[in-house]
Amino acid sequence: MIATLLVLLSAADLRVGPITAREGEMASGTIELGEATIPITVVHGARPGPVLGLVAGNHGYEYTPILALQKLRAQLDAKKLAGSVIMVHAANMPSFLGRTIYFSPIDQKNLNRVYPGKRDGTISERIAYAITTEVIEKSDYLLDLHCGDGNEDLRPYVYKQETGDAKMDARISELVTAFGFEHAVIDRERPKDRNASVYCSNTAVTRGKPAMTVESGYLGVSDPKSIAAIVDGVQNVMRYLKISEGPVRRPAKITYYDPSEVLTSPATGILYWHVARDQRVRKDDLLAHVTDFFGKKLADVRSPFDGVVLYIVATPPITKDQPVAFVGRARGSN
Ligand SMILES: [Zn+2]
Repeated sequence: MIATLLVLLSAADLRVGPITAREGEMASGTIELGEATIPITVVHGARPGPVLGLVAGNHGYEYTPILALQKLRAQLDAKKLAGSVIMVHAANMPSFLGRTIYFSPIDQKNLNRVYPGKRDGTISERIAYAITTEVIEKSDYLLDLHCGDGNEDLRPYVYKQETGDAKMDARISELVTAFGFEHAVIDRERPKDRNASVYCSNTAVTRGKPAMTVESGYLGVSDPKSIAAIVDGVQNVMRYLKISEGPVRRPAKITYYDPSEVLTSPATGILYWHVARDQRVRKDDLLAHVTDFFGKKLADVRSPFDGVVLYIVATPPITKDQPVAFVGRARGSN
């Protein structure tokens, strides 16, 4: 009898690492990994419902998602929710405090390329492992929140993953519509192997949980508009999942980019960019050029097709094979 009672009691708790929230309560705390600490809030609704995982700061120089979750935390009342929200406030603390783009200052790895991580790996791999096992595996849906990194001038969009599994694709499509952004990049390139899922959101998808990656913000700027867009999108998804009450606002029209292409630098040197985020470009238009450190031109980077600049790197340092621009062509356009 006592054993059964204990099981029932613990079933009423939502546990993420050392953080436990009882029904109708919010709890915050950290997962400690030695070289990194992961701040997490668990909002456990008073009534049953799905669990929505939110991850900010896989890239530590991407501030708008981190600040959006600060706002969201203050808005949520566990007593009013049917279902739960798990927030990772800053996944990549070494990168956040170290002010690095792309890579961890400790192991030089890109956290959003090492999922599902390793229990006994480098610090980025251990962060990914902790988020996989404690957050993604305990969630039913996942939003991985990003923006243009410190070097990227980016227009807001989401990635709509297409897996080939019609059921999963329909659920992802509904999630994309519910988030409410008007621009979505079609992505068919994500790995199918759950043990080599590479990306945070794909780690959820390969585990049967609808997920998507959101991009809102640019160049390390903490602008209120980009932050509010993330908060509004998450609130809309919470209403779609019926975790909270109220109507879901869906966009009248979504522009889907298919194909899209990341253009990388042919050379290391100094980057000069010639376009801005959301600019329309024609095939072969000059997006950027690279010089050596004495001003001699080394290479041009041109658009592969007519399209829109989803992001352009807009700071001078550039390393061979690193991204320079992301161009997408709206489906149905010429
Ligand atoms: Zn990112």
